[in-house]
Amino acid sequence: MITIDCAGDTELADKLVNYLKNNGIDCTQEDSLVLVTLNEVEKILKMFLKETRRVEYSILKSDLTTFVVAKVVPIEDFGLLRCNICGYVVSSEEELTAHQRAHGIQLL
Ligand SMILES: [Zn+2]
Repeated sequence: MITIDCAGDTELADKLVNYLKNNGIDCTQEDSLVLVTLNEVEKILKMFLKETRRVEYSILKSDLTTFVVAKVVPIEDFGLLRCNICGYVVSSEEELTAHQRAHGIQLL
């Protein structure tokens, strides 16, 4: 099972579910998460973004079974920090440290 995380964007998740179903791909939606059993998720996501002209979105692989689809914005301008591994956004150094521990990084 692969999770496609639309980062809180339920409308995007709705559109993605429609797109997948139109292409005969079985999926379930839970708010802004779309769950699929599919091997070529990244390829399908790229086609979806291209065909729906969502050029400002990008696909990030956050772990083995999770893809994040989100708009790319220069968040650093808002005083936010981005995880350099998966692109996850947090608002403080403490949160970033806690988050990065989840990747198994040993931080001093
Ligand atoms: Zn991360």
